[in-house]
Amino acid sequence: MLRLRHPVSLFLITVLVLLGVLRSYSTPSAVDAGAPDVVFSALRSEAILRQLVAEKLPHVAGSPHNTVLRHRIIAQLEAAGYQPDVQSRFHCNPLFGSCSPVENVIAVKPGAVGKHAILLTAHYDSAWAGPGAADDGAGVAAILEIARMAADFPAFDNDVIFLLSDSEENGLIGADAFAEHHPLFARVKAVINLEARGVSGPSVMFETGVGNRSVIRMLAKNLERPIANSLTYEVYKRMPNDTDFTVYARKGVMGLNFAFVQGVALYHSVLDDPDHLDLGSLQHHGDNAWGMLKAFGERDLTTINHAEDAGYVDVFGLGLSHYPISIAGGLVLFLGVWVMLAIGLAFRKEFRYRQLRWGLLAIPLLFAALVVGGYLLSWPLGRWPDLHPLEHPHPWIGRLTLFLLLGLLIYSTLKVFSGRVSACAWMVLAWALLFALGLILVSKMPAAAYVVLLPLAMFALGSLIDLFRKKSPAPLLMASLFGFGTAAFISLYHFFMLDVVMNFDRSYLKAAPLGLIALTVMPMLLAYVKNRELTWQPARWLLVVILAACFVHLLLPGFTAQRPRDMTLMYSESDGSKQGYIVLESVHGRHDRAYARNHGFEIRELNDGRLGAVERPVREVAALNLPAIEIATGPSSAEQAGWRREFSIEVPAGQRFLQITVPPEVGLQRAVVNDQLALDTSIEIKQQRKSSTIRVVYPAPGTLRLELFTESGDAFTAAAVTWHDLPGVLTAPFLGNWPEDARPAFYGPRAEKIQEFTVPAAQ
Ligand SMILES: [Zn+2]
Repeated sequence: MLRLRHPVSLFLITVLVLLGVLRSYSTPSAVDAGAPDVVFSALRSEAILRQLVAEKLPHVAGSPHNTVLRHRIIAQLEAAGYQPDVQSRFHCNPLFGSCSPVENVIAVKPGAVGKHAILLTAHYDSAWAGPGAADDGAGVAAILEIARMAADFPAFDNDVIFLLSDSEENGLIGADAFAEHHPLFARVKAVINLEARGVSGPSVMFETGVGNRSVIRMLAKNLERPIANSLTYEVYKRMPNDTDFTVYARKGVMGLNFAFVQGVALYHSVLDDPDHLDLGSLQHHGDNAWGMLKAFGERDLTTINHAEDAGYVDVFGLGLSHYPISIAGGLVLFLGVWVMLAIGLAFRKEFRYRQLRWGLLAIPLLFAALVVGGYLLSWPLGRWPDLHPLEHPHPWIGRLTLFLLLGLLIYSTLKVFSGRVSACAWMVLAWALLFALGLILVSKMPAAAYVVLLPLAMFALGSLIDLFRKKSPAPLLMASLFGFGTAAFISLYHFFMLDVVMNFDRSYLKAAPLGLIALTVMPMLLAYVKNRELTWQPARWLLVVILAACFVHLLLPGFTAQRPRDMTLMYSESDGSKQGYIVLESVHGRHDRAYARNHGFEIRELNDGRLGAVERPVREVAALNLPAIEIATGPSSAEQAGWRREFSIEVPAGQRFLQITVPPEVGLQRAVVNDQLALDTSIEIKQQRKSSTIRVVYPAPGTLRLELFTESGDAFTAAAVTWHDLPGVLTAPFLGNWPEDARPAFYGPRAEKIQEFTVPAAQ
């Protein structure tokens, strides 16, 4: 029936598909600086970036170095012929309880019609530890280069607003200030946001708005290398991550959010500098932004909000396959029935229902074995080695091991079930299973239905070809090959996609998409091995190779100088305590254990500054007695639904961080900082609010007024945290022999003072 000359052809198809899929996860090559101005050049943009972050210093919103960066951005825009404007205010984002000074840089290229505007934006502030060359310097440098290119370009119909926003890292504060207070925002009908959660990889379009069908069509039409899929968007919606785009999406503005996410070990680290940035990522960012800017530029922006969403997936980065959600159900039904009919007709003579019995055992067994095998491999591949939660510096041995596991399971299934399950029985079950999965996806997550739609469609197409070669002894050969090839694409595409959210410690999840390859290849293999004697010898060899690969993998370092662990030296003390602690902080919980042991750090419970405790590797030292901040409790008054309590906090000059936490039982409803709404807990956000915390980054010196609106009028204990410089005498014994594979990241080196204070009952 499905006789192939040799199964090597199936292997070759898989390898070709793998190469195609790897193209989706790679970047275009950087265009050199001599290219004409209508083409985005990563090298021109890189020159801007290197100048912006020349000192490789962090530039948190409100910091002195942030001002240096801002002046360079303004100079770039002025040199390109713009008259940039700075939106300057102290602002709070009530979604996150965070406040900071904001200095948004804005330049406008007026449009020929100019009624509506496109917002092209990236944030120029960095996280605390590093220079933020990728996050989000690459976005800023791409936009500055595009602004320069656009200056000489004939006017588009629509205005273009270039917004280099401030204070994204502290809680999307700059973007919120722009959306809430800048008069230009009312005209914005399309947003293009550029971001990064790593230093390399393609610029993926990972987020759009509700009713994205039109913009997805535009994306497909206007980008040379679109990398996007609607499953990522569905997953991202459920993840606790946010970017500036969140602010605009919540206001109902349609748009596209691009980010590159590989090299996540360097994210928010001291090594997020221009030397570690993949210029291909910068090129891709620029190509995407420039391509979409031109498309939005000439479009009537009132037409980009569609009534419905699209499902979409890029094919090898060559094009975007997409469909309106509303037809997903009909398509699955139509194609599913077609495929089942094609199989039924092709095999109506040889098919017997009782053949299905062994198949009903074999298929679940194969999937169970894949998950159990993946679970067992998760120990040598991901749990025993010391690894970053998301990234392996040498991932290919681990990937190969999972591919070999798949091979072993396919071969073992053939050995056990050949002669028991007929090829046509497996085919009926496999495609019926996919059909059923399609129906489930359509009802639960129609944007992800492409996972099944594409293989069904290609099987159906193949069956048409088979119709014309019906004299062939192998009915449905083309259908099987097309269906399998497409299933292999879906399988491998998502296998690599999972790298973005997990490491090999969850190999059972990583291996799961590979099941699709096994499911669809098996009918052809069963037909091939029919009447052949199989031995266990190849399976034994595969097992030996898998064990050898595990062994090799165990010898690979999980962290390298290029892909280091995050480990930051900081100091913490509680007010009034005689001891302080030097802490080896790792946000991912991956501090260097050998280093900690050799330098006298031991795991202790520590005040986390938010009325709770954390376990950290620490060394006890005599308290530095950092200066305490003065917090005075003012009057309180009864409100409609609770109590209003007033505080005044004396902020000394140079204070870079202040955080106030109140316990959950007081029921904090709102917080107001200097007459601005700083936190509104009734606003729903993606992440769970752990405690009621208000943060102020670079508060102005003088009196800071804080008002808390609480449900309960009882007395309570609150905690304040302030950051100070980490004295060199504390760090000197450690920094001399600091491990090569560990770098400060996230909040960076600092000395933290924790003050708990009692707030009297309201009256
Ligand atoms: Zn960012």
